[in-house]
Amino acid sequence: MFRFKCASCGQWHEGMPAFGPHAPARYFDITEAERATRTLLSSDQCIIDDREFYVLARLEIPVVGLDECFAWLMWVALSEASYAAYERSYEWVERHHIGPFFAWIVDDLPLYPATAGLKSMIHLRNHGMRPWVELEPDSHPLALDQANGISAERAAEIVAFCLHSED
Ligand SMILES: [Zn+2]
Repeated sequence: MFRFKCASCGQWHEGMPAFGPHAPARYFDITEAERATRTLLSSDQCIIDDREFYVLARLEIPVVGLDECFAWLMWVALSEASYAAYERSYEWVERHHIGPFFAWIVDDLPLYPATAGLKSMIHLRNHGMRPWVELEPDSHPLALDQANGISAERAAEIVAFCLHSED
């Protein structure tokens, strides 16, 4: 299991948790009073005004020398037709063959230059597993990290940052 001595708190941290917000950024732009009528939000899906369709996916980054990936949990925007296909197969046991679907990255990540506006393909996995994000080849540091992997030291820095920014 991935473990490291944390430069922030001095403790050993274990495991490779995935980090991300519980809703897309656009959701937080809407006042709490309006959310009840304008949005639908679950742990995996968000619809805004019946015309913006988001799903939660994992953007996995290989860690050089490890079997485990680091993963960001990330909301991505699908077209209405792609969302309908995602939704239709949501309860299926076998769904990895559906898609992939084009999706826009809509949120920015910490520790990277702005990521909103990057293009990706979303690949479904079988029931109970979140889809994964394949960024389109790009010179953006996040796309390069997904293509090339990051070092275990960098993974430790990212995990430490995310753990302690939740404090
Ligand atoms: Zn720590």
